[in-house]
Amino acid sequence: MPSGHVVFIGAGPGAADLITLRGLAALQRAQVVLADALTDPALREHAPQAEWIDVGKRGFAHATGQARINALLVEHALAGRQVARLKGGDPSIFGRLEEELQALAGVGVSCEVIPGVTAAVAAAAQSLRPLTRRGQGRTVALTTAMTLQHALQAGHHADTEVFYMAGQQLGALAHSLSACGWPSDTAVSVVSRAGCADARVSTHNVGTLAEAAAEHAGRPAVVTVGVGATPATVAAGSGLTSPA
Ligand code: SAH
Repeated sequence: MPSGHVVFIGAGPGAADLITLRGLAALQRAQVVLADALTDPALREHAPQAEWIDVGKRGFAHATGQARINALLVEHALAGRQVARLKGGDPSIFGRLEEELQALAGVGVSCEVIPGVTAAVAAAAQSLRPLTRRGQGRTVALTTAMTLQHALQAGHHADTEVFYMAGQQLGALAHSLSACGWPSDTAVSVVSRAGCADARVSTHNVGTLAEAAAEHAGRPAVVTVGVGATPATVAAGSGLTSPA
């Protein structure tokens, strides 16, 4: 039986202090860390003992890149090392976790997954716009805007829908949202680098979303559409004033 073990750690949306305490403890025990591009390099300070392998470089994440990552995980685990696989956000959300778990299961390596703060919830926190609302927003969908063929494709599955991987194609996303039946006055919020010191939030509607492109260019962004993109309102008679 192999003695190695792989722990998948959700590093959160890009600021080192949004990792969980459990994730941090696992990082501190690691002998090898395979890190994604969107994880904060500051996390290295917490595992100076480990060999760090950057597997998130541009061009590394396509199909053959994924095969190489799987091979590295298997190689280090079978060599008996404690391997940490550090992934941006939460490992279970658009993180190719299935392929990596399958590769390790195929050679009998034990695994553990430690959750992380996914970009959708980091964006909700950043914008002070809750994803669910009592009586109005009962469902939330997390949707990748990209099909396997790298075509942009929106959807309309929930009261609030959060789109990943559309940040560089906001104009095309706006068209696709309309085609999916979202009315043009539906609220949309765009948050880039959510959770980070330089986060940006902008608010629009489906008809005006394309105007957000310049502000978020070149930055990881999620696009929240529907009830969860509207400002949180203050109930009448609560004695509180509404936020601007
Ligand atoms: N596993 C990650 C998602 C990986 S897919 C998670 O759970 O968050 C990469 C996409 O995530 C990016 O294209 C972008 O849409 C989104 N993303 C990642 N970090 C982000 C951040 N800090 N702010 C906004 N969106 C982010």
